[in-house]
Amino acid sequence: MKKAFVIGVALLFGFALFMGAAPTTVQAKTTFITIGTGGITGVYYPTGGAIAKIVNKKRKEYGIRCTVESTGGSVFNVNAVMSGDLEFGVVQSDRQYQATKGIANWKDKGPQKDLRAVFSIHPENVDLITAVDANINSIQDLKGKRVSIGNIGSGFRKNAIDALKANGINFEKDFHAESLKAAEQPGMIQDGRIDAAFYTVGHPSGYYKEATAGKRKVKFIPITNIDSLLAKYPYYAKSVTRIELYPGAANDKDIPTFGVKATFVTSIKVPENVVYAITKEVFENFEDFKKLHPAYGGLTKKSMLEGLSAPIHPGAMKYYKEVGLK
Ligand code: GLU
Repeated sequence: MKKAFVIGVALLFGFALFMGAAPTTVQAKTTFITIGTGGITGVYYPTGGAIAKIVNKKRKEYGIRCTVESTGGSVFNVNAVMSGDLEFGVVQSDRQYQATKGIANWKDKGPQKDLRAVFSIHPENVDLITAVDANINSIQDLKGKRVSIGNIGSGFRKNAIDALKANGINFEKDFHAESLKAAEQPGMIQDGRIDAAFYTVGHPSGYYKEATAGKRKVKFIPITNIDSLLAKYPYYAKSVTRIELYPGAANDKDIPTFGVKATFVTSIKVPENVVYAITKEVFENFEDFKKLHPAYGGLTKKSMLEGLSAPIHPGAMKYYKEVGLK
């Protein structure tokens, strides 16, 4: 009886040691981090992949293992980074601004004090596409149509609502609004389930290649009358979508619109050495990074420090100071 008890305790003790020791050894060797992106036909998803590729090359040196997750977009990513479900996220510059100030989607929660900027990436345009047979030639013509303005967790939903408002259109009254995820929209246009869809994304994107390659012809609609938006919101700028990127679209001219920037964010709770390593690897391999997506064509190291409104994470700042970028 006594002997059995001693053996039992010894076994338990051994088991506890085993359980306790195993994870610590693994943790000491590898830090797992996940980047939240967007739909797989957007540019955030390959952007997460590009960052992960560069960081994972130095896995042995830094002990960081980086993975990428497809998500609902900017708003989802900010919230997931704040709750600690994700370590990093790609987020529209306007969403970073709103989260930092505690406005728009963060009005009830208040300023997201732990949000930190790492760098910005490619420019993103706010675009509207319609099926040619839906006879829509301007934002005004959306009245009475079926229009997707984007899922709740997306960054682009608010851009769509802002563009509509600037043109005197109320999405709750003037048309049948759908809240589809970006990746679902091109297929829904092809199936005749919706007439038009908004999206905010870098160019070129798989999304617009898909959207303009179907049997049902699709065109871009100019987004005009936006002076009131540009005057009101510091993060919006005029922009143009180049039609040569999408030969399948039924347009013959470039499309005027407005845009924001994609940015890379994290939380103050993510350790300095991790953010430092990622920042350093992306900047030191800048030319290789730029080759990973055609939307990065115009990037410069300096431009990657523009469009940030949250405080810069100390790990990123350490690198910027070292190389004289700050
Ligand atoms: N800007 C989009 C959003 O936050 C995502 C674009 C992308 O995935 O490239 O909703």
